[in-house]
Amino acid sequence: MTIKKGDIVKKLEEIVGREWIIKEREYMESNLRDETPDVLRPHAAEDLILVKPSSTKEVSQILKAANQMRVPVFPVGGRTGLVGGCIPIEPGIILSLERMNNLEVDKENLMAIAEAGVTLGDLIKAVEDADLFFPLHPGDEGAQIGGLISTNAGGVRAVKYGVMRNYVKGLEVVLPTGEILNFGGRLIKNNTGYDLMHLIIGSEGTLCVITKAVIKLYPKSGYSVTLVLPFDSRRDAIRTVPKILQSGVIPLAVEYVGIKELNRAAEHLGEEWPVQEVDAQLIIILSGSSEDEVYSDCERISKIAEENNAGEALIAETREEQERILRIRSNMYTALKSDMVDILDVTVPMNKLSDLMDEIDKIAEKYGIYLPVYGHVGDGNLHIHLMKENNEVPRYIEEVRDEIYRAGINLGGVITGEHGIGRIRVEKIGGILTEKEINLMKEIKRIFDPNGILNPGKILPSN
Ligand SMILES: Cc1cc2nc3c(=O)[nH]c(=O)nc-3n(C[C@H](O)[C@H](O)[C@H](O)COP(=O)(O)OP(=O)(O)OC[C@H]3O[C@@H](n4cnc5c(N)ncnc54)[C@H](O)[C@@H]3O)c2cc1C
Repeated sequence: MTIKKGDIVKKLEEIVGREWIIKEREYMESNLRDETPDVLRPHAAEDLILVKPSSTKEVSQILKAANQMRVPVFPVGGRTGLVGGCIPIEPGIILSLERMNNLEVDKENLMAIAEAGVTLGDLIKAVEDADLFFPLHPGDEGAQIGGLISTNAGGVRAVKYGVMRNYVKGLEVVLPTGEILNFGGRLIKNNTGYDLMHLIIGSEGTLCVITKAVIKLYPKSGYSVTLVLPFDSRRDAIRTVPKILQSGVIPLAVEYVGIKELNRAAEHLGEEWPVQEVDAQLIIILSGSSEDEVYSDCERISKIAEENNAGEALIAETREEQERILRIRSNMYTALKSDMVDILDVTVPMNKLSDLMDEIDKIAEKYGIYLPVYGHVGDGNLHIHLMKENNEVPRYIEEVRDEIYRAGINLGGVITGEHGIGRIRVEKIGGILTEKEINLMKEIKRIFDPNGILNPGKILPSN
């Protein structure tokens, strides 16, 4: 599709002012990519206009104009996505909400009211300053509220408080046709008709543009500790996880990590991982209102771990020690990235995690390759990395990916628990959802976006 750039630029200048439009490619480079590994990342189209509105009204005017002129619009957030969801793959408008970053913390209602361009880092800081807590922590604090909601982000701290969907209580959105809608609010309960708000959460910028959100907060937990539990065998580590969750202790996070990847992540940061003796490790974050409560949970977990052949636990108590552990864990992706072809986020029922790991080992053995695996085992969610071999993309990479997907599905799981479909997994969705499900989704897309201008080519196959 070619666009009449002159006409749309003129219209956009009327809406946001000349200084908030960028037409030159060299000044929009960072908006043409996300964190998807280089090998897979889709190419951005030529003929793009980057626009930065400052208000919901401006977003509405931009979408209305784009819809009338049939110009594609690609919403971008912090561009930390891993599936090419925000990449402008057709000529059109890149809609950056970075200027819309107003943030209010409502202490009385335990809610934050955040515009779409507020970053995760800014939200965490403002909430902490108000002596409250926003637990969600996907690895990159540059992600923005609009992106976190559009991808229904998860991350390491979803075991106790859930994924982004569990925090969103209200949304302000703009439809591709320009109408502004509000759902929910500073409310805990709302049963008014079909739940359109939850349809929008996780819709990856294909149904509407999110401009503002009401987000649930929690009281600051008085006390937290991070445990690192070493195991001789991975099977022992993984089978301990459901036992911990069945015990009544609900940790903030339960992560499985391997020493090889941890050391690489630590080295990348110029740091050292504190537990070296064994390969398989669980990182467990516990929080509670008092030291006694957390220590009692800690003791219960240590006992369960011991019964399942764990070695001596490392208990990190100071904020610095705990932050260092989380920092190294969060850096695992970045440290592997230069040799990475893809990062999968297959999710299975918790009691099938060991079986999935075994299947992945068999696949690695069959192809003679290194498949690093770690992740959010407390949520049944593993990150499996497909790596280059001798600096090259292995020719059988598609087969490896498909075999891992098949293993996950055969165990009652899904191919993505957090990162979504975006652009790079569109052709996979046809083999996974039924025709009826895809047709229903296409109908929903058509109702929201009759001219298909919003983030085309994402989630759903075109035919
Ligand atoms: C090191 C690292 C670790 C990560 N760890 C995790 C993890 O543990 N768990 C997890 O879930 N994710 C993780 N991610 C992925 C990523 O951080 C999340 O997907 C994040 O939610 C994306 O937010 P963003 O603002 O960067 O969105 P972007 O990447 O900019 O966009 C993502 C999608 O949201 C849409 N979008 C953005 N803003 C809007 C808006 N205002 N309205 C409508 N649509 C919009 C885009 O069109 C696109 O489809 C990780 C990424 C990195 C780099």
